[in-house]
Amino acid sequence: MDNPYIKKLVRDEVRALSAYHVPNPGDAVKLDAMENPYQFSPELVEQWLTVLKRADLNRYPDPSAQELKQAIRNAMHIPENMELLLGNGSDEIIQIIIMALAKSDAVVMAPEPTFVMYKMIATFCNMTYAGVPLTNNFNLDMPAMRIAMKEQQPAVIFLAWPNNPTGNLFTEADVIEIIENAPGLVVVDEAYTSFAQVSFMDRLTDYDNLVVMRTVSKSGLAGLRLGYLAGSAAWLNEFDKVRMPYNINILTQLSAQFALEHVDVLDEQAAKLRVARADLMQALNNINEVEVFDSSANFILFRITNASDVFACLNNKNILIKNLDPAGGALTNCLRVTVSTPEENKLFLDALNACIN
Ligand code: PMP
Repeated sequence: MDNPYIKKLVRDEVRALSAYHVPNPGDAVKLDAMENPYQFSPELVEQWLTVLKRADLNRYPDPSAQELKQAIRNAMHIPENMELLLGNGSDEIIQIIIMALAKSDAVVMAPEPTFVMYKMIATFCNMTYAGVPLTNNFNLDMPAMRIAMKEQQPAVIFLAWPNNPTGNLFTEADVIEIIENAPGLVVVDEAYTSFAQVSFMDRLTDYDNLVVMRTVSKSGLAGLRLGYLAGSAAWLNEFDKVRMPYNINILTQLSAQFALEHVDVLDEQAAKLRVARADLMQALNNINEVEVFDSSANFILFRITNASDVFACLNNKNILIKNLDPAGGALTNCLRVTVSTPEENKLFLDALNACIN
Protein backbone atom coordinates (compact mmCIF):
# COMPACT_ATOMS: atom_id res chain seq x y z
CA MET A 1 0.00 0.00 0.00
CA ASP A 2 1.22 3.54 -0.77
CA ASN A 3 2.50 5.40 2.26
CA PRO A 4 0.48 8.65 2.28
CA TYR A 5 3.25 10.60 3.99
CA ILE A 6 5.57 10.23 1.02
CA LYS A 7 3.54 12.22 -1.49
CA LYS A 8 2.61 14.77 1.13
CA LEU A 9 6.09 15.35 2.56
CA VAL A 10 8.85 14.37 0.15
CA ARG A 11 9.73 17.16 -2.28
CA ASP A 12 8.33 16.65 -5.80
CA GLU A 13 11.74 17.00 -7.42
CA VAL A 14 13.19 14.34 -5.12
CA ARG A 15 10.34 11.93 -5.86
CA ALA A 16 10.92 12.53 -9.57
CA LEU A 17 14.61 11.49 -9.32
CA SER A 18 16.01 8.00 -9.67
CA ALA A 19 18.71 7.04 -7.17
CA TYR A 20 22.22 6.90 -8.67
CA HIS A 21 22.27 3.40 -10.05
CA VAL A 22 25.34 1.24 -9.49
CA PRO A 23 24.98 -2.20 -11.09
CA ASN A 24 26.17 -5.25 -9.17
CA PRO A 25 29.25 -6.42 -11.09
CA GLY A 26 29.14 -10.02 -9.81
CA ASP A 27 32.27 -11.68 -11.22
CA ALA A 28 32.28 -9.61 -14.43
CA VAL A 29 35.39 -7.89 -15.79
CA LYS A 30 34.61 -4.50 -14.30
CA LEU A 31 35.22 -1.72 -16.80
CA ASP A 32 32.31 0.58 -15.92
CA ALA A 33 33.53 2.92 -13.18
CA MET A 34 37.00 4.24 -14.10
CA GLU A 35 38.68 2.28 -11.33
CA ASN A 36 42.41 1.60 -11.48
CA PRO A 37 42.90 -2.18 -11.93
CA TYR A 38 46.27 -2.23 -10.15
CA GLN A 39 46.80 -2.87 -6.46
CA PHE A 40 49.65 -2.41 -4.00
CA SER A 41 52.38 -5.05 -3.98
CA PRO A 42 52.15 -7.60 -1.11
CA GLU A 43 55.09 -5.79 0.61
CA LEU A 44 53.25 -2.48 0.55
CA VAL A 45 50.07 -4.11 1.78
CA GLU A 46 52.04 -5.40 4.80
CA GLN A 47 53.43 -1.92 5.51
CA TRP A 48 49.97 -0.39 5.15
CA LEU A 49 48.50 -2.90 7.62
CA THR A 50 51.21 -1.95 10.11
CA VAL A 51 50.15 1.69 9.77
CA LEU A 52 46.51 0.78 10.34
CA LYS A 53 47.42 -0.84 13.67
CA ARG A 54 47.96 2.73 14.94
CA ALA A 55 44.32 3.66 14.34
CA ASP A 56 42.47 4.56 17.54
CA LEU A 57 39.04 3.33 16.54
CA ASN A 58 37.56 4.47 19.86
CA ARG A 59 38.45 8.10 19.10
CA TYR A 60 36.97 10.49 16.59
CA PRO A 61 39.38 11.19 13.73
CA ASP A 62 41.25 14.50 13.43
CA PRO A 63 38.40 16.71 12.15
CA SER A 64 40.71 18.71 9.93
CA ALA A 65 42.93 15.76 8.91
CA GLN A 66 46.08 17.85 9.20
CA GLU A 67 48.59 15.09 8.52
CA LEU A 68 46.71 13.86 5.50
CA LYS A 69 46.44 17.40 4.15
CA GLN A 70 50.20 17.77 4.49
CA ALA A 71 50.70 14.49 2.59
CA ILE A 72 48.41 15.80 -0.19
CA ARG A 73 50.35 19.07 -0.31
CA ASN A 74 53.64 17.20 -0.65
CA ALA A 75 52.48 14.69 -3.23
CA MET A 76 50.26 16.94 -5.34
CA HIS A 77 52.20 20.23 -5.33
CA ILE A 78 49.43 22.41 -3.96
CA PRO A 79 50.42 26.11 -4.16
CA GLU A 80 51.61 27.18 -0.72
CA ASN A 81 49.19 30.08 -0.38
CA MET A 82 46.17 27.86 -1.10
CA GLU A 83 44.07 25.91 1.42
CA LEU A 84 42.70 22.37 1.18
CA LEU A 85 39.26 21.01 2.04
CA LEU A 86 38.67 17.26 2.09
CA GLY A 87 35.52 15.37 1.20
CA ASN A 88 34.15 11.85 1.39
CA GLY A 89 34.88 11.51 -2.31
CA SER A 90 34.71 14.56 -4.53
CA ASP A 91 30.97 13.87 -4.66
CA GLU A 92 30.77 15.25 -1.15
CA ILE A 93 32.79 18.32 -2.13
CA ILE A 94 30.33 19.05 -4.94
CA GLN A 95 27.58 18.80 -2.33
CA ILE A 96 29.41 21.11 0.08
CA ILE A 97 30.00 23.77 -2.60
CA ILE A 98 26.41 23.64 -3.80
CA MET A 99 24.95 23.70 -0.28
CA ALA A 100 27.00 26.79 0.54
CA LEU A 101 25.73 28.60 -2.58
CA ALA A 102 22.13 27.33 -2.52
CA LYS A 103 20.19 30.58 -2.44
CA SER A 104 16.67 30.02 -3.71
CA ASP A 105 17.23 31.81 -7.03
CA ALA A 106 20.82 30.67 -7.60
CA VAL A 107 21.86 28.75 -10.71
CA VAL A 108 24.31 25.84 -11.07
CA MET A 109 25.67 25.61 -14.63
CA ALA A 110 27.62 22.93 -16.48
CA PRO A 111 28.20 21.98 -20.09
CA GLU A 112 26.36 18.79 -21.08
CA PRO A 113 26.79 15.88 -21.25
CA THR A 114 28.91 15.84 -18.13
CA PHE A 115 29.18 14.22 -14.70
CA VAL A 116 25.59 13.74 -13.54
CA MET A 117 26.20 14.59 -9.88
CA TYR A 118 26.38 18.35 -10.56
CA LYS A 119 22.76 18.30 -11.70
CA MET A 120 21.58 15.77 -9.11
CA ILE A 121 23.04 17.68 -6.17
CA ALA A 122 21.76 21.02 -7.51
CA THR A 123 18.32 19.41 -7.58
CA PHE A 124 18.69 18.00 -4.04
CA CYS A 125 19.52 21.50 -2.86
CA ASN A 126 16.56 23.16 -4.56
CA MET A 127 18.74 25.11 -6.97
CA THR A 128 18.14 25.77 -10.66
CA TYR A 129 20.38 23.69 -12.91
CA ALA A 130 21.30 25.01 -16.36
CA GLY A 131 23.00 22.56 -18.75
CA VAL A 132 24.61 24.07 -21.84
CA PRO A 133 25.03 21.54 -24.70
CA LEU A 134 28.55 20.83 -25.92
CA THR A 135 29.29 20.97 -29.67
CA ASN A 136 28.98 17.80 -31.78
CA ASN A 137 32.56 16.83 -31.05
CA PHE A 138 32.05 17.54 -27.33
CA ASN A 139 33.96 20.84 -27.15
CA LEU A 140 32.63 23.79 -25.21
CA ASP A 141 30.13 25.76 -27.29
CA MET A 142 31.59 29.13 -26.41
CA PRO A 143 28.93 31.35 -28.03
CA ALA A 144 26.27 29.37 -26.14
CA MET A 145 28.28 29.51 -22.90
CA ARG A 146 28.70 33.29 -23.21
CA ILE A 147 24.97 33.80 -23.67
CA ALA A 148 24.09 31.34 -20.88
CA MET A 149 26.48 32.99 -18.42
CA LYS A 150 25.12 36.43 -19.25
CA GLU A 151 21.47 35.49 -19.11
CA GLN A 152 21.48 33.04 -16.20
CA GLN A 153 24.23 34.56 -14.02
CA PRO A 154 25.28 31.18 -12.55
CA ALA A 155 26.53 31.20 -8.96
CA VAL A 156 28.79 28.28 -9.90
CA ILE A 157 29.96 26.59 -13.09
CA PHE A 158 31.36 23.05 -12.97
CA LEU A 159 33.87 22.12 -15.68
CA ALA A 160 35.08 18.52 -15.59
CA TRP A 161 38.55 18.67 -17.16
CA PRO A 162 38.85 16.08 -18.77
CA ASN A 163 35.10 15.70 -19.07
CA ASN A 164 33.15 12.60 -18.05
CA PRO A 165 31.61 10.76 -19.95
CA THR A 166 33.14 12.21 -23.11
CA GLY A 167 36.81 11.87 -22.05
CA ASN A 168 38.08 14.97 -23.86
CA LEU A 169 39.84 18.05 -22.52
CA PHE A 170 38.17 21.35 -23.33
CA THR A 171 40.77 23.78 -24.70
CA GLU A 172 42.67 25.67 -22.04
CA ALA A 173 41.79 28.95 -23.77
CA ASP A 174 38.05 28.20 -23.51
CA VAL A 175 38.32 27.28 -19.83
CA ILE A 176 40.27 30.46 -19.15
CA GLU A 177 37.68 32.54 -20.99
CA ILE A 178 34.95 31.00 -18.85
CA ILE A 179 36.85 31.69 -15.63
CA GLU A 180 37.51 35.28 -16.72
CA ASN A 181 33.92 35.97 -17.76
CA ALA A 182 31.92 33.94 -15.25
CA PRO A 183 29.85 36.05 -12.88
CA GLY A 184 30.46 33.52 -10.09
CA LEU A 185 32.63 30.62 -8.94
CA VAL A 186 34.20 28.17 -11.42
CA VAL A 187 35.06 24.68 -10.18
CA VAL A 188 37.58 22.92 -12.43
CA ASP A 189 37.00 19.24 -11.63
CA GLU A 190 40.28 17.44 -12.27
CA ALA A 191 39.14 13.94 -11.33
CA TYR A 192 41.17 12.50 -14.24
CA THR A 193 44.26 14.67 -13.91
CA SER A 194 46.70 11.71 -13.63
CA PHE A 195 45.71 10.67 -17.12
CA ALA A 196 45.58 14.14 -18.66
CA GLN A 197 48.75 15.45 -17.01
CA VAL A 198 47.54 19.04 -17.17
CA SER A 199 46.06 21.12 -14.40
CA PHE A 200 44.73 24.52 -13.37
CA MET A 201 46.29 24.13 -9.92
CA ASP A 202 49.06 26.66 -10.67
CA ARG A 203 46.53 29.23 -11.90
CA LEU A 204 44.62 29.33 -8.60
CA THR A 205 46.59 32.38 -7.57
CA ASP A 206 45.52 34.25 -10.74
CA TYR A 207 41.75 34.12 -10.17
CA ASP A 208 39.66 34.75 -7.08
CA ASN A 209 36.66 32.88 -8.58
CA LEU A 210 38.51 29.61 -9.27
CA VAL A 211 38.80 26.45 -7.18
CA VAL A 212 40.29 23.11 -8.28
CA MET A 213 38.74 19.80 -7.22
CA ARG A 214 40.35 16.38 -7.41
CA THR A 215 39.82 12.82 -6.21
CA VAL A 216 42.07 9.89 -5.41
CA SER A 217 39.39 7.52 -6.74
CA LYS A 218 40.74 7.20 -10.27
CA SER A 219 44.34 6.75 -9.22
CA GLY A 220 43.90 3.50 -7.35
CA LEU A 221 42.13 4.48 -4.13
CA ALA A 222 38.43 4.47 -4.98
CA GLY A 223 37.66 2.39 -1.90
CA LEU A 224 38.91 5.09 0.46
CA ARG A 225 36.42 7.78 -0.65
CA LEU A 226 38.60 10.86 -0.62
CA GLY A 227 38.39 14.03 -2.66
CA TYR A 228 40.11 17.35 -2.15
CA LEU A 229 39.44 20.93 -3.06
CA ALA A 230 42.22 23.50 -3.42
CA GLY A 231 41.45 27.19 -3.29
CA SER A 232 41.88 30.41 -1.39
CA ALA A 233 41.13 30.61 2.33
CA ALA A 234 38.31 33.04 1.54
CA TRP A 235 36.30 30.34 -0.29
CA LEU A 236 37.41 27.31 1.71
CA ASN A 237 36.66 28.88 5.11
CA GLU A 238 33.04 29.31 3.99
CA PHE A 239 32.79 25.80 2.52
CA ASP A 240 34.32 24.35 5.68
CA LYS A 241 31.32 25.57 7.69
CA VAL A 242 29.06 23.31 5.63
CA ARG A 243 31.30 20.24 5.98
CA MET A 244 30.41 17.59 8.55
CA PRO A 245 33.16 17.69 11.21
CA TYR A 246 34.43 14.11 10.94
CA ASN A 247 33.77 13.45 7.26
CA ILE A 248 37.12 11.72 6.66
CA ASN A 249 37.32 8.63 8.85
CA ILE A 250 40.49 7.47 10.56
CA LEU A 251 41.06 4.48 8.24
CA THR A 252 40.85 6.73 5.19
CA GLN A 253 43.12 9.34 6.77
CA LEU A 254 45.83 6.82 7.60
CA SER A 255 45.50 4.81 4.40
CA ALA A 256 45.51 7.80 2.06
CA GLN A 257 48.45 9.30 3.90
CA PHE A 258 50.33 6.03 3.49
CA ALA A 259 49.39 5.79 -0.21
CA LEU A 260 50.47 9.36 -0.91
CA GLU A 261 53.82 8.71 0.71
CA HIS A 262 54.18 6.11 -2.08
CA VAL A 263 52.80 8.35 -4.80
CA ASP A 264 55.50 7.07 -7.18
CA VAL A 265 53.65 3.72 -7.20
CA LEU A 266 50.39 5.44 -8.14
CA ASP A 267 52.22 7.48 -10.79
CA GLU A 268 53.70 4.33 -12.34
CA GLN A 269 50.25 2.75 -12.50
CA ALA A 270 48.84 5.85 -14.20
CA ALA A 271 51.70 5.78 -16.71
CA LYS A 272 50.91 2.14 -17.57
CA LEU A 273 47.26 3.05 -18.03
CA ARG A 274 48.14 5.94 -20.36
CA VAL A 275 50.06 3.49 -22.56
CA ALA A 276 47.15 1.03 -22.40
CA ARG A 277 44.77 3.85 -23.36
CA ALA A 278 46.72 4.53 -26.56
CA ASP A 279 46.70 0.81 -27.43
CA LEU A 280 42.99 0.44 -26.71
CA MET A 281 42.20 3.58 -28.68
CA GLN A 282 44.15 2.24 -31.64
CA ALA A 283 42.42 -1.14 -31.45
CA LEU A 284 38.98 0.49 -31.29
CA ASN A 285 39.87 2.77 -34.20
CA ASN A 286 40.65 -0.33 -36.24
CA ILE A 287 37.10 -1.62 -35.85
CA ASN A 288 35.05 -0.21 -38.75
CA GLU A 289 31.76 -0.22 -36.88
CA VAL A 290 33.12 1.91 -34.04
CA GLU A 291 33.44 5.72 -33.86
CA VAL A 292 35.97 6.54 -31.14
CA PHE A 293 36.19 9.86 -29.28
CA ASP A 294 39.55 11.19 -28.19
CA SER A 295 40.33 10.66 -24.51
CA SER A 296 42.62 12.32 -21.99
CA ALA A 297 41.12 10.24 -19.16
CA ASN A 298 41.27 6.56 -18.12
CA PHE A 299 38.19 5.67 -20.16
CA ILE A 300 37.14 5.82 -23.79
CA LEU A 301 33.76 6.84 -25.18
CA PHE A 302 32.73 5.27 -28.46
CA ARG A 303 29.67 5.14 -30.66
CA ILE A 304 28.34 1.99 -32.29
CA THR A 305 25.08 1.09 -34.01
CA ASN A 306 22.61 -0.64 -31.66
CA ALA A 307 24.78 0.24 -28.66
CA SER A 308 22.29 -1.08 -26.10
CA ASP A 309 22.30 -4.50 -27.80
CA VAL A 310 26.10 -4.50 -27.93
CA PHE A 311 26.16 -3.56 -24.22
CA ALA A 312 23.81 -6.47 -23.38
CA CYS A 313 25.91 -8.84 -25.49
CA LEU A 314 29.08 -7.75 -23.64
CA ASN A 315 27.27 -8.30 -20.35
CA ASN A 316 26.42 -11.84 -21.41
CA LYS A 317 30.11 -12.34 -22.05
CA ASN A 318 30.85 -11.14 -18.52
CA ILE A 319 32.21 -7.73 -19.52
CA LEU A 320 30.66 -4.78 -17.68
CA ILE A 321 31.06 -1.34 -19.28
CA LYS A 322 28.79 1.72 -19.10
CA ASN A 323 25.83 2.09 -21.42
CA LEU A 324 25.17 5.77 -22.14
CA ASP A 325 22.66 5.11 -24.90
CA PRO A 326 19.69 5.48 -22.50
CA ALA A 327 20.82 9.06 -21.73
CA GLY A 328 19.92 9.88 -25.35
CA GLY A 329 20.77 13.14 -27.14
CA ALA A 330 24.46 13.46 -27.92
CA LEU A 331 25.10 10.15 -26.16
CA THR A 332 22.73 8.08 -28.30
CA ASN A 333 24.48 4.82 -29.22
CA CYS A 334 27.46 5.66 -27.00
CA LEU A 335 29.27 3.27 -24.68
CA ARG A 336 32.09 4.05 -22.24
CA VAL A 337 34.83 1.62 -21.32
CA THR A 338 37.40 2.04 -18.55
CA VAL A 339 41.01 1.52 -19.60
CA SER A 340 42.39 -1.43 -17.65
CA THR A 341 45.31 -3.86 -17.81
CA PRO A 342 46.37 -5.07 -21.28
CA GLU A 343 44.82 -8.46 -20.38
CA GLU A 344 41.41 -7.03 -19.42
CA ASN A 345 41.43 -4.66 -22.38
CA LYS A 346 41.97 -7.66 -24.65
CA LEU A 347 39.09 -9.55 -23.02
CA PHE A 348 36.91 -6.53 -23.73
CA LEU A 349 38.09 -6.16 -27.35
CA ASP A 350 37.63 -9.88 -28.08
CA ALA A 351 34.12 -9.78 -26.63
CA LEU A 352 33.29 -6.60 -28.55
CA ASN A 353 34.47 -8.12 -31.82
CA ALA A 354 32.44 -11.25 -31.10
CA CYS A 355 29.36 -9.13 -30.37
CA ILE A 356 29.71 -7.19 -33.63
CA ASN A 357 30.33 -10.19 -35.88
N1 PMP B 1 34.06 14.27 -10.91
C1 PMP B 1 34.03 13.57 -12.04
C2 PMP B 1 34.24 14.28 -13.34
C3 PMP B 1 33.79 12.19 -12.01
O1 PMP B 1 33.74 11.51 -13.15
C4 PMP B 1 33.60 11.55 -10.76
C5 PMP B 1 33.34 10.07 -10.63
N2 PMP B 1 32.85 9.39 -11.66
C6 PMP B 1 33.64 12.33 -9.61
C7 PMP B 1 33.88 13.69 -9.72
C8 PMP B 1 33.38 11.75 -8.25
O2 PMP B 1 34.45 11.01 -7.80
P1 PMP B 1 34.59 10.55 -6.29
O3 PMP B 1 33.33 10.90 -5.55
O4 PMP B 1 34.85 9.09 -6.36
O5 PMP B 1 35.75 11.31 -5.75
